[in-house]
Amino acid sequence: MTNATLLIVNCGSSSLKFALFDTTKGEFVADGIAQALGSKSANFSSNNAALDGHAETKQNVDIPHADHAQALSLCLKSLNETFDLEQSLVGVGHRVVHGGESFNSSIVINANVRKEIEKCSPLAPLHNPANLLGITLLEKRYPHLPQVAVFDTAYHQTMPQQAYRYAIPEKLYTELGVRRYGFHGTSHRYVAMATANSLAKPQTETSLICAHLGNGASVCAIANGESIDTSMGMTPLEGLVMGTRSGDIDPGVLPYLNNHGYSIDRIDKTLNKESGLLGLSNESNDMRTLTKLAENGHEGARLAIDVFCFRLAKYIAAMLVSIPNLDALVFTGGIGENSAHVRRQTSSHLKHLGFDLDTNANLENGDATQGVINTPSSRYKIMIIATDEERMIAQDTLNLITN
Ligand code: AMP
Repeated sequence: MTNATLLIVNCGSSSLKFALFDTTKGEFVADGIAQALGSKSANFSSNNAALDGHAETKQNVDIPHADHAQALSLCLKSLNETFDLEQSLVGVGHRVVHGGESFNSSIVINANVRKEIEKCSPLAPLHNPANLLGITLLEKRYPHLPQVAVFDTAYHQTMPQQAYRYAIPEKLYTELGVRRYGFHGTSHRYVAMATANSLAKPQTETSLICAHLGNGASVCAIANGESIDTSMGMTPLEGLVMGTRSGDIDPGVLPYLNNHGYSIDRIDKTLNKESGLLGLSNESNDMRTLTKLAENGHEGARLAIDVFCFRLAKYIAAMLVSIPNLDALVFTGGIGENSAHVRRQTSSHLKHLGFDLDTNANLENGDATQGVINTPSSRYKIMIIATDEERMIAQDTLNLITN
């Protein structure tokens, strides 16, 4: 008998990421990505795990000027070479970036849900239309399969007003929806669950500060399992220093730049694509590269890491305000899981607040393993927990389609 599978799709403006989840095995059996869609350098790569009678297969092909529809066809064709999708596929889970105030949890997609996602598009003009395109393409291909939307913002809908409102005229909130929504919710939720499991506590009694540090980065205060504050705002630009995003900046800089000939589009591009680690170092947005450069005396790389860690420590300290019963500070994401240097430098700013890192444990845990990395005398636990957003999307999809 064929095992039931779920297709997990993350459709971006010029990319389509996918993964196939085997619900019986409880694991992913294939994944892949089509990137630079619409351009000359469009490329498709995939990896199907070995299955009874099939060897592991990898593909990497250039698909110049292919669009999302062509990429999806290629994705399904490549999956079908190993897995009989017609027989096995029971549902599709989509990552959707912005659910505004309309969605506080994942949901099975129907016409109303699509309309609401469309309504949220002005809040995420690059992402939501691409997410909707993915939904439309899959609906055309598999009209009878249930599809589920899992929102980056939904987990943060439990934040109280004091955390999500900006101190600006009320009508900007009521008429235009200007407020903090927060992102990375699927990752923060997964980490909250995994941390509770690791501490052998119920999730509803586990409180943590989760630092998701990847190319995008955000901190989330999680009290008794629920998000009560986060560093990203109305858009994923606010908060921490990121790969190419500035994070927090005095809003007064915007009119200043505008008065100096920078158009709004140029400012937007500068803050989203040319700032952060890249802007500070003038070299790279990649923490691994910067760490090596800094070790070799590159001043810009060192400064970029210094600002990254200091801003992060400030945010962690600020999140402590919301959580009197903190169990752990948790590092996750590509940088959080892998950079012993960033964890050490960030923790050094926080030692007097009760976060005492065990430098040996920190190094031992440097290679994407998990565990506790504080000293026995530390007031708070410090942990590394590997995130797994795709698994969370698969779990939500399975729960919703089986209920
Ligand atoms: P993500 O967006 O979660 O894939 O994370 C990407 C970031 O993680 C990039 O800045 C990488 O340089 C960083 N990263 C991955 N592995 C390491 C490592 N071993 N040391 C430092 N940074 C790393």
